[in-house]
Amino acid sequence: MKMRNVRKYLKEFNGVSITAQRELLMGLIHKSQGHISAKELYKNAVKKNGSISLATVYRNLKLFKELGIIEERRFGNLSCYYELKHANSHQHLVCKCCGTIIEFETPLIQKIIEQVEENYSFNVLKAEIYLEGFCKECNNADNNTVRGYSMS
Ligand SMILES: [Zn+2]
Ligand SMILES: [Zn+2]
Repeated sequence: MKMRNVRKYLKEFNGVSITAQRELLMGLIHKSQGHISAKELYKNAVKKNGSISLATVYRNLKLFKELGIIEERRFGNLSCYYELKHANSHQHLVCKCCGTIIEFETPLIQKIIEQVEENYSFNVLKAEIYLEGFCKECNNADNNTVRGYSMS
């Protein structure tokens, strides 16, 4: 996930003008090194450009998504997160306590896809799983009394 030059990145998409706001937003998404919510992005953006609105952030996120630059992730009841599109597919672990998002890969996904395609004659285009739980830090924290899991 390397994007050396935001401007060059946006230039690849014909017809999309590179505005200062778009450049700022793409830069911030890139800087977040992973997963950022629209509200977080807005909070960071407004520090650098006071005239940017939450509506602008949402509008541009939608545009970036349509252009295939970023991906939108929904982790259960948590708000949407955005990340730059990776070349490799990856899955997510989400900590219920601190909100940390960890990416992981497993060859099992490919196995599931193959099995489903064969058994159900279903053409799988996208497979996403996320697992909810507690990260190492939260698990080790003495004052953490939250335990248990839900399958919801
Ligand atoms: Zn945690
Ligand atoms: Zn991710």
